[in-house]
Amino acid sequence: MKLNIAVIKGDGIGPEIVTEAMKVLDGVAEKFGHEIEYTQLLMGGASIDVHGVPLTDETIEKAKAADAVLMGSIGGDTNTSPWYKLEPSLRPEAGLLKIRKALNLFANVRPALLYEDLADACPLKKEVAEQGFDMVIMRELTGGLYFGKRNTTVIDGVKTAVDTLEYNENEIRRIAIKAFDIAMKRRKSVISVDKANVLDSSRLWREVVNEVAKDYPEVKLSHMLVDNCAMQLVKDPSQFDVVLTENMFGDILSDEASMITGSIGMLSSASLNETKFGLYEPSHGSAPDIAGLGIANPIATILSAAMMLRFTFDLDEEADAIENSIKKVLKDGYRTGDLYSEGMKKVNCSEMGDLILANI
Ligand code: NAD
Repeated sequence: MKLNIAVIKGDGIGPEIVTEAMKVLDGVAEKFGHEIEYTQLLMGGASIDVHGVPLTDETIEKAKAADAVLMGSIGGDTNTSPWYKLEPSLRPEAGLLKIRKALNLFANVRPALLYEDLADACPLKKEVAEQGFDMVIMRELTGGLYFGKRNTTVIDGVKTAVDTLEYNENEIRRIAIKAFDIAMKRRKSVISVDKANVLDSSRLWREVVNEVAKDYPEVKLSHMLVDNCAMQLVKDPSQFDVVLTENMFGDILSDEASMITGSIGMLSSASLNETKFGLYEPSHGSAPDIAGLGIANPIATILSAAMMLRFTFDLDEEADAIENSIKKVLKDGYRTGDLYSEGMKKVNCSEMGDLILANI
């Protein structure tokens, strides 16, 4: 298969961790007989330095022409970097918002998986952590409260602010379809999270999700209220496979889910549109405090590359090979600085990439 991948290395540790992900992808391509063509693109601070803006229209067109985008992280030290003296629309993060919008990336997928060998990093009770968990949070990214009409006015001398939570059935249907498609590649269970006991938007959400479920008879669907879900995530996270939810609930729950894995350098993320196209990136930022030292953990980015193989290219076996290699390397006791504890073998960013490649 020919894979046409746009690569945005980004800022800070971005170039270091993306280089390792490309190394692993190249190894997979060689082993499984694929051909990868990379197109290097600039975004964030790196683009500001060259073009004066965080994302050019030409870059957007090149990203659109690719099958998928693999990204490091963008941005610098917000206190000291000259990028943050620019007006907000010219700062690195504006590029991220612009590309998400331009590519119509409405579905955000964030896996939260507790690796057996990293269970000590989990802040939950030992008996809960021992059960393990492996879920993805599927969050709607372009609708709901963050995009609805808002204003602040003074009514009868009293300051009043209004935000609007609005969803139409098409917006709900397209993300529900994505969630069920992903569930079919996993343990075939979707828990849709809403607040249907109070909100009209949630009642419509539930109705449309139930309709979509009819096309996926193999997938078990259940509904959970968001307040209960927040509790269940810390009480019994092993019950979740795919968690489907709207924008604001997803914002909060995905952070909660990532917190219980206990390791920021392990968290991958994908943003998808209606086609097979996706933008794949680690959940963490550009870590300017350790940039250039070669000690960053590349695993979140390598896991994002594995998701790309699975979701955009339907190369499940290849994605499994990467994920299993990572489990093996952790089992063998190798750790980058962020995960290191006594008795383990400390490796740097590129050594971790080499080890993962060697176990493919
Ligand atoms: P951060 O995630 O970059 O770093 C938080 C802490 O985690 C730091 O101590 C860092 O060293 C550590 N860390 C993060 N990733 C690591 C890795 N792979 N290996 C080892 N340690 C790692 O968050 P921050 O410091 O708040 O933000 C730094 C910059 O990143 C800011 O400019 C911010 O806007 C940007 N940012 C970008 C994205 C993105 O590109 N999607 C996301 C979040 C933050």
